[in-house]
Amino acid sequence: MKLSRQFTVFGSAIFCVVIFSLYLMLDHLQLDHTKSPNNGGDRLQNGQLSILQDKIDRLERLLSENNEIIANIRDSVINLKESVKDGHGGLDRGNMSQGPYLELLASPPLVLPIDSQDCQFVAREFSKPADGVQLLDVYDLLTFDNHDGGVWKQGFDITYQENEWDSEPLQVFVVPHSHNDPGWLKTFDDYYRDQTQHILNNIVVKLHEDSRRKMIWSEISYFSKWWDNIDDQKRDAVKSLFEQGQLEITTGGWVMPDEANSHYFALIDQLLEGHQWLERNVGVKPQTGWAVDPFGHSPTQAYLLKQAGMANMLIQRVHYSVKKHFASQKTLEFFWRQNWDPASSTDILCHMMPFYSYDVPHTCGPDPKICCQFDFKRLPGGRVSCPWRVPPQPITDGNVQQRVQMLLDQYRKKSKLFRTKVVMVPLGDDFRYAEALEWDQQFQNYQKLFDYMNSHPELHVKAQFGTITDYFTALRKSAIDPGHASASLPVVSGDFFTYADRDDHYWSGYFTSRPFYKRLDRVLESHLRAAEILYSLTLANIQRFRKLNDFPAVENNRLLTEARRNLGLFQHHDAITGTGKDLVVIDYGTRLFHSILNLKQVIVNSAHWLVLKDKSAYSHNPSKFCLDMCLYFQTYQMKTLAACTNRSFSSRSVVVYNPTEQDRTSVVTVYVNTPHVCVITDHGHPVPAQVSAVWDNSTTASTELSFVAQVPALGLGLYQLNTAVSGGAETAEYVFLRQGGELSVNMKHFTVNIPQDRLKLNENGSEHQIKVEFAWYGTTSNRDKSGAYLFLPDGEAKMYSPARPPVIRVTKGSVFSEITTTFDHVTHTLRLYNVQGKDGNCVCVCFNHEIAMRLTSDVDSKDRFFTDLNGFQIQPRRTMAKLPLQANFYPMTSMAYIQDPGTRLTLLTAQSLGSASLVSGQLEVIMDRRLNQDDNRGLGQGIQDNKVTASSFRLLLEKRAKTDGKPSPLSYPSLLSHVSSLYLNHPLISMAVSTEAQSLSLSTFSPLASSLPCDVHLVNLRTIQSKDGGGPSDEAALILHRKGFDCAFFNRNTGLLCATTQGKIHTEKLFSELRFQSIIPVSLTLMHTTEGGSSKEEIRLKPMEISTYRVQLT
Ligand SMILES: [Zn+2]
Repeated sequence: MKLSRQFTVFGSAIFCVVIFSLYLMLDHLQLDHTKSPNNGGDRLQNGQLSILQDKIDRLERLLSENNEIIANIRDSVINLKESVKDGHGGLDRGNMSQGPYLELLASPPLVLPIDSQDCQFVAREFSKPADGVQLLDVYDLLTFDNHDGGVWKQGFDITYQENEWDSEPLQVFVVPHSHNDPGWLKTFDDYYRDQTQHILNNIVVKLHEDSRRKMIWSEISYFSKWWDNIDDQKRDAVKSLFEQGQLEITTGGWVMPDEANSHYFALIDQLLEGHQWLERNVGVKPQTGWAVDPFGHSPTQAYLLKQAGMANMLIQRVHYSVKKHFASQKTLEFFWRQNWDPASSTDILCHMMPFYSYDVPHTCGPDPKICCQFDFKRLPGGRVSCPWRVPPQPITDGNVQQRVQMLLDQYRKKSKLFRTKVVMVPLGDDFRYAEALEWDQQFQNYQKLFDYMNSHPELHVKAQFGTITDYFTALRKSAIDPGHASASLPVVSGDFFTYADRDDHYWSGYFTSRPFYKRLDRVLESHLRAAEILYSLTLANIQRFRKLNDFPAVENNRLLTEARRNLGLFQHHDAITGTGKDLVVIDYGTRLFHSILNLKQVIVNSAHWLVLKDKSAYSHNPSKFCLDMCLYFQTYQMKTLAACTNRSFSSRSVVVYNPTEQDRTSVVTVYVNTPHVCVITDHGHPVPAQVSAVWDNSTTASTELSFVAQVPALGLGLYQLNTAVSGGAETAEYVFLRQGGELSVNMKHFTVNIPQDRLKLNENGSEHQIKVEFAWYGTTSNRDKSGAYLFLPDGEAKMYSPARPPVIRVTKGSVFSEITTTFDHVTHTLRLYNVQGKDGNCVCVCFNHEIAMRLTSDVDSKDRFFTDLNGFQIQPRRTMAKLPLQANFYPMTSMAYIQDPGTRLTLLTAQSLGSASLVSGQLEVIMDRRLNQDDNRGLGQGIQDNKVTASSFRLLLEKRAKTDGKPSPLSYPSLLSHVSSLYLNHPLISMAVSTEAQSLSLSTFSPLASSLPCDVHLVNLRTIQSKDGGGPSDEAALILHRKGFDCAFFNRNTGLLCATTQGKIHTEKLFSELRFQSIIPVSLTLMHTTEGGSSKEEIRLKPMEISTYRVQLT
């Protein structure tokens, strides 16, 4: 009875949706095979296809072997039932006289303790600087008319006066670059073997031939692999190129990351991994970001680069209409400022490339036909040529004057789009400079052109090879230095989504493509973070005991490093985007999965040390782990649940790890082989538990146990599972509906009408209705069709209407209740947890064509909605009728919401997907896509490798107390929404103590003195590698993020167990036992020491700030 009261209090407007689905299109695919005409060419193609198919099948087998590993772990776990037979049943069930759920009920009435000062930041109005540009305003202004601009198709005619450079000559920096994708059409390793290693080898040889030559390099994933394979002599040669400024590392991340689907945890981690590698091995500090290929750009990345100590950045893939507008306003170079920054502390100097692409035809000036003639790799006789049918000519004494005139004309026109007389011309393309001949062709011909230009003063030009930082240095001198004649640069705020490169070709498809891997990415992220933190705490803890032991610190450090790099690799703009070839996708997936397994091992090893009461009893035995990981794995292929029970004992300890920085009450689910089981705390108190069925399909089942665990922040809790002949966990009740009957299910605040899935929510007397539906988009019949990148629908979505009525299963239990509806192609579950606070749900989906989940509510949101950028900040959106449907989709990394003055409806997501609000009151999410054709962006295939994907969501309905004035570029989630998102992304991790270790005495572990403030997120506590890279050092990177949140919500009984503190953290009072030996504020990636406002005793964070500290913990 008491439990149901809790339900009343805490179960308010939060519920959970789970959707699994299968693929309609699998049938379609087979149909296509039989239809294909049987001519010779097709036979050949089919032969190649079947070879590829074999290879994919092989790789798939590899994956399924991994699944077997999980299955084996599961099988190794023990059967409680047997132990009952052995006569060990009827165990201590705790002291029932104290009431069954003592600890749970001990929680005080919950009032949200928010410091009123912490609400002021959000109340601030957005103030646009005098020379400021707000992207939302630009979108209002533009007509998106796609006018033919002449030679510069997406622009306009550029004219100039001959004498414009008489007083100040044009300064030209030609920046040679080679764009190396760490996986796309080939895997990372295959590209390295076939192209990249040769490019890097040539850099050493060819730059040393002429000290005027320059080159830039971005991807440390490739660079480090190459470095490991070269000798000391070559390494010294490379270092001298860095010292002479001929070679420059730009950005210096592990990859050039996607900026739409990537979460800021992973963006930081891959940048940190690259920078740490650079610091250890070559000692260079990147100054300039270089991002020529990500499909749209996020201000989050700009912020992270700034925090990492970079001064400049370059972006390229921006909507052609926005580029044209920026070019006409001469705002292509600007200080990119965060929407939420009231001053200028986040400003970073940004160059937006003006034209269609980063290849040579689109970088020397507005006319690709001319520019292509200055790509000397395309000289006649080579493998590539100019599509404009005018080939380049080798530069000779006879033609140099005429060629210089042509090229200078392009340089001058390009320069007219900018405010200074310094112009930057990238010179490169994908995997360029692999052969010595190409180096000679480019560098020798350009040197002749430069020599001619520079020796003719009447041309008023100074041209040279440069690195990107050479360019920015000259630009700053020209634009910013006081006393200089030229104009200063504008300030721009906002983001550059959704990208279109031409016509109505919006790149909103990749927000969802390969959602299975997008979900897997986030599973790896949460495991990596959890493992990093627990491992760092373990090392510090071991130090306190000052006693040598055989804890596998070096081996676990190796596993962590490998996981960081696999996660980093997947942030690449053809990886997490889902835009690689099938076999490349499988290569990524195998890496991700492999690392998840390894991280589980790191977590288990660390937990083993930490929960041991008598540390002297510790011994590491890799063949016989003390703790088995309880796998609850919805993401990979099948639901794999590993049991946590004991064959020879009638009870079994379960260790539960809470990777969040808040004390937490959440549901833990483990597999059991008997329904007769009870759960008690390590103090012997019974815990609410429910035994329910695990449904292999809609009607058959095995057994799982769900119980409510309370675990301290970053701590390890202990629970005991005992067999119980009677009075154990409650068994869930089930009701089935097979013939499409109607049913109305009431759950306190909710009424669910079946089969329409109409949710009625009663909150404080006001009633809201939300309908969950599925719809699908077809593909246009035009020549250009949807593919991995593009979303080109054939009009509005059609509602999904299955041929047969669904099978509906209603589960009612004391820990959770749920309604599962199984259609032919989709299964979805609405689950409500009866738990205090924020715990809840999960939505899971997969499908074909493009399947969308649509939430329809009575929220009067008009044309406005909000999506997050990289889980870091909220970007207001406006649905615009002047844009095609596909242009109104935006990336959703962690949440999207709609609101009216009284209500906000937030959809929290545990994976990145594309989302829109096409109609007032609606939120739509594209769940999966199955496309039979390529979309002509180089990939050369459709996407048909769909997998059953368990996508997770949580819905939050909150009462607002705010009227919206004029649309603002600022919006923030509520505190409850932040914490809910944290719980959704970082579930509790449970481990079973093995039989062998059962006799050891264990204790709970609570490292923090108390929860961190509600608005402070521990992004990571990441052990720093030792100088030689061989193992862990005694230092860690402490990365903290203070979240911006909106106070204007009635957060009644939200279950938040934390307060806010104006961003102050007392370092002495942070840990219960550990202490900071040192704490040094540094730049985001540890490269620079910063002058922080923080002292050793107190850390102070500004709202929205992410800060890193180099710490020593003992
Ligand atoms: Zn690329």
